[in-house]
Amino acid sequence: MAAGSASYNQCPPGGIEGVARLAHLLGKPVIPINPVNGVERPRPVAVIDESLCIGCTLCIQACPVDAIIGAAKQMHTIVYDLCTGCDLCVAPCPVDCIAMVEVTPGKTGWDAWSQEQADQARAMHDFRNLRLQREKEENNARLAAKAAAKLQAVQAETPASEAERAEQARKKAIIQAAIERARLKKEQAEKDAS
Ligand code: SF4
Ligand code: SF4
Repeated sequence: MAAGSASYNQCPPGGIEGVARLAHLLGKPVIPINPVNGVERPRPVAVIDESLCIGCTLCIQACPVDAIIGAAKQMHTIVYDLCTGCDLCVAPCPVDCIAMVEVTPGKTGWDAWSQEQADQARAMHDFRNLRLQREKEENNARLAAKAAAKLQAVQAETPASEAERAEQARKKAIIQAAIERARLKKEQAEKDAS
């Protein structure tokens, strides 16, 4: 919305009152919720049928507020107090074992939320973004160290023939190109973040 690339009627959980609040902030008219993203309804939470869960972790990756606990090949479970009822974990589940269960019968939109819950969801979402960024940086650093070690190992080789020298040069060029690509990617990411 801030960049002008999304409209202010995309959030069924916020309901028409959410649209009205955003419209007020933006100085725009109140418009209907975009039905492509769902309809305004009582707030649900996700419930996993743990007897069917295969521990694939796809739901964890989809959850924008880190409300799902579990590890690879282990049963997963939802922290209900953190679940915003956004539905995003349902579609990726390969065994269809996530159900959305209403917890605010008769209450929709901001009637089904407190400001405190909304603030908590926002904080969890920000925290998740930071965690993902940190994990990406750690992974990139690991890969860079691995590539540097590989390059060192290739450089330490002592080719005994012209063919081996050519092979060493080929490997060096591939690794150096990969290191350069990673460096440029990191530079771009730092630019984007600033
Ligand atoms: S419904 Fe949304 S918030 Fe709740 S567990 Fe699934 S992805 Fe997370
Ligand atoms: S996506 Fe479904 S099967 Fe995979 S971990 Fe989540 S609940 Fe279990």
